[in-house]
Amino acid sequence: MKALLQALKAHVDGEIHFDPIHRKVYSVDASIYEVEPMGVVIPRTTEALLTTVKIAQEFKVPIIPRGAATGITGSCLSTGLIIDTSKYLNRIKEINTEKQYVVCEPGVVQDHLNAALAKYGYRLGPDTSTGDRATLGGMLANNSAGAHSLIYGTMADHLLEVELLLVDGTSRRFKEIDEQEWSVLAQQDELYKTLWHIREQYADDIRKQFPTIPRRVSGYNLDAFLKSDTFNPCRLIAGSEGSLGIATEIKMKIVPILHVAGICLIFLDDILKGMQAIEKMLQYQPCALEMIDEKIIYMGRSSPSMLGKISWLTGNPQALFIAEFQLAEDLNRFHKAMQSAGYSCIVMRDAKQIENVWELRKSGLGLLLSKRSYSRAIAFIEDLSVAPQKLHSFMKKLSEYFKDKGETAGIYGHIGSGCMHIRPYIDLRKKSDVARMQQMMLDVADLVHEYGGALSGEHGDGLIRSWLNEKMFGKRIYQAFLELKNAFDPENRMNPGKVVNGPPLQQNLRLDPSTPIVEIPTFLNFEKEGGLALAADLCNGNGLCRKSKNLMCPSFQATQDEFHTTRARAQALRSVIHGRLPAKDFTSQGMHDVLDLCLECKGCKTECPSEVDMAKMKSEFLYHYHKAHGISWRSYFFSRLGLFSKLGALSPSLINKLSSLSFAKKLLGVSEKRNLPPLALGRFSKRQRKQAKHEKQIVLFLDTFTEFYCPEVGEAALSVFEALGYEVIIPSWSCCGRPALSKGELPYSKKLAERVVKTLLPYAELGLPIIGLEPSCLLTIKEDYTGLLGHDNPHVKPVAERCILFDEWLLQQHLPFEFKDLGRIKVHTHCHQKAGKNKKATLEFLQKCQRQVEEIPSGCCGMAGSFGYETEHFEISMKIGNLHLFPALQDSPTIIANGFSCRNQISHGTHQQALHLSEFVKLLFQNFTCL
Ligand SMILES: Cc1cc2nc3c(=O)[nH]c(=O)nc-3n(C[C@H](O)[C@H](O)[C@H](O)COP(=O)(O)OP(=O)(O)OC[C@H]3O[C@@H](n4cnc5c(N)ncnc54)[C@H](O)[C@@H]3O)c2cc1C
Ligand code: SF4
Ligand code: SF4
Repeated sequence: MKALLQALKAHVDGEIHFDPIHRKVYSVDASIYEVEPMGVVIPRTTEALLTTVKIAQEFKVPIIPRGAATGITGSCLSTGLIIDTSKYLNRIKEINTEKQYVVCEPGVVQDHLNAALAKYGYRLGPDTSTGDRATLGGMLANNSAGAHSLIYGTMADHLLEVELLLVDGTSRRFKEIDEQEWSVLAQQDELYKTLWHIREQYADDIRKQFPTIPRRVSGYNLDAFLKSDTFNPCRLIAGSEGSLGIATEIKMKIVPILHVAGICLIFLDDILKGMQAIEKMLQYQPCALEMIDEKIIYMGRSSPSMLGKISWLTGNPQALFIAEFQLAEDLNRFHKAMQSAGYSCIVMRDAKQIENVWELRKSGLGLLLSKRSYSRAIAFIEDLSVAPQKLHSFMKKLSEYFKDKGETAGIYGHIGSGCMHIRPYIDLRKKSDVARMQQMMLDVADLVHEYGGALSGEHGDGLIRSWLNEKMFGKRIYQAFLELKNAFDPENRMNPGKVVNGPPLQQNLRLDPSTPIVEIPTFLNFEKEGGLALAADLCNGNGLCRKSKNLMCPSFQATQDEFHTTRARAQALRSVIHGRLPAKDFTSQGMHDVLDLCLECKGCKTECPSEVDMAKMKSEFLYHYHKAHGISWRSYFFSRLGLFSKLGALSPSLINKLSSLSFAKKLLGVSEKRNLPPLALGRFSKRQRKQAKHEKQIVLFLDTFTEFYCPEVGEAALSVFEALGYEVIIPSWSCCGRPALSKGELPYSKKLAERVVKTLLPYAELGLPIIGLEPSCLLTIKEDYTGLLGHDNPHVKPVAERCILFDEWLLQQHLPFEFKDLGRIKVHTHCHQKAGKNKKATLEFLQKCQRQVEEIPSGCCGMAGSFGYETEHFEISMKIGNLHLFPALQDSPTIIANGFSCRNQISHGTHQQALHLSEFVKLLFQNFTCL
């Protein structure tokens, strides 16, 4: 391995990682498996990819192409050398709208391609649910399809040409050829000769035995041989799971953007009754016909990621069918027919609402997996496929089987094309459950076979089902599979064990009865998560943390590196928790590296379907890390920011001068390119102000930033409270403990939390609202104190319940004024607020009184407390700012940002001054007319 590593390092233009943490990070995907590779190569160019394959040939090691690793079958897991194409090989090389095709590198993400095509009115046909992160290479190799497979089919139907790198380092360009061309090629080329031979030998068997159903991904696509006049080898590569070669360039058809007239939602009390009508439903030519069951509906209702998006979901149906139509007349006819057949159904035409319905459908799988327990809806009989006409009878038998065996399963699927996602609940740590899984797999395989279906209509074979291909397809067809594999990969080194020669179902399970749990005593209370082990195990690997929109996960968005995803962090922690890394590695440098770029933005806590709370786990990790290695001076300083600010406030001018000197920054580990925010010349609490007596009272929680850095924000808030007739009680300043929590200084953070609770409790008991101006401080009290002080602490809840952010409070006030229009306003919401319930409070308030208000589609600003000031984090911090936030401010609007760090980041990145909402509302109050 050492020699291989040296050779790769010497010759490959790319990142090469053979360290234990990288190998652990790359040992999972969205499946139930875990296999540790020998190393990972992330090539920067196609040439580097080629060199890697040649070196692997020299050392005779297996190679495994990998995209976003969202596959559900373990198809990109192996002990060999992983080649990650997603970070650098992601260029769209050509868009040709005249001839309606694109040429792409394999690492291009489906949604990125669609965004580029949208400008021209086009898109890619297949639309996998994981489109926001799945790569074209992975889609090709899994022969992906989505909700619209009724009109677009699968990837195989869109392939024009594929450049395939073979295991020996040679490259072939495959495209459709006619019989004549094939016979000429067969004389010159061994590969084409073998393909010709396979067709000659097995055509009759394929005709007789191959399933003829709309969706099948199991096995190799031998039906490509049956077309009478032409042959397109690209169809064979589709669905081959990287076991024939690595696609380095893909030329695909594109289709005009789909315009839909609307959807019809059918609420069912009996799934089977609905399935009886599928054939009839298909007569109305929907472009999609999908279903979700009551378990997903239930999970969707309680998931923070679906908050505010499912008000249309009324009653308690057993299932929901979604039929989408391009033509309004088809939709209307369908709706009428369903109504007269006695179905309860509604029509939806509003694009936003339709999007929400699809979001619930798309997040179905993630939601099923989000249960906080080890008994989960896992993937093995995952995507069964039969003819849609037989679906009712098939599902009836399957339901009887489940009932008979006392099994429960989450169900959703593409009913229009006969492909069902069925996920029984299994606890892989129990021997009896693993045995149940094995038996169920065999029984269901028999049933699928009886119905002439396939075990996979969507996700392929991978480690879960390749072992069943001989049983499912029969000896002759399986022999043809083996010959095909051998023709492309005679040494069995291209992603071995996929499609053919698969290992047994129970091998390589991520969790199994023998998996240990190494108890790590935690400082924070992880009761809500079911303990630290389950908190990390909640990650099911679906890779949503690789998406490029919204909050989760800024460090991936800026680096495009798997190592900086939430998944990688959870996986690294899991490795110690399950004894795959020695316990001492919990505080290793490698563990520090994988967690280092986590900005503790809390994005994952809401946007990850499993609600993995990495910010909390990072705090816990840092606590242990400091215990093992001592704390740096910088972390000590930032964790006690309140205390140092208090000392600095004794002589603010001197401290401001000192802190801007290069040597002071160096000493502190602060970037040369930033200035620390200057202390205000007077503390907020020391400024003289006289308040009028009012009947109504409120409490202002005085945070560190308002007290020492931006008292003007507090002053503005006071004017607003006063104008609205409130007397403000301001308890003395006390840091909430957030800086210490972020830095893992947990005992100190706890001490501060206790002090804050003690200070605020009397007001909470009086029922007074406790208003906070700085989102992260107030939300620490609301959301993090139970972790610090325990879930059973009787004082935390009453205080947390009374705490409210300034914008939320303002939104509840009746304002009997008409305000002058102050022009264009853009709102950037603090990431901790975005991760909570009232993410849109500032926006909604402003929209009530101003005409031109826009929300910036930003995630985290990139500053994240002290993160952006730290020397080694400066570049990434600015990169994150540049993703969405800075570009949105180019037209110099009025900017509202309630976070102190966000305002500083905006000022550094754009040289514009953002206002706190209190400052803007003060301005508004100077420009109003009483109604
Ligand atoms: C929640 C969820 C929902 C899903 N929904 C759908 C869906 O609607 N439709 C669907 O089809 N799938 C779905 N999937 C499965 C998966 O997301 C898709 O198949 C996706 O296209 C895989 O892309 P990827 O980049 O993640 O591939 P990976 O998982 O990285 O790889 C998949 C396979 O492709 C191979 N591969 C990767 N790159 C190359 C290359 N350049 N050359 C050759 N082989 C390569 C790998 O070796 C592996 O065998 C879903 C998965 C999840 C977790
Ligand atoms: S952290 Fe969440 S979003 Fe990321 S892979 Fe794990 S479960 Fe999926
Ligand atoms: S807290 Fe933010 S940066 Fe950290 S893993 Fe979660 S989403 Fe990523």
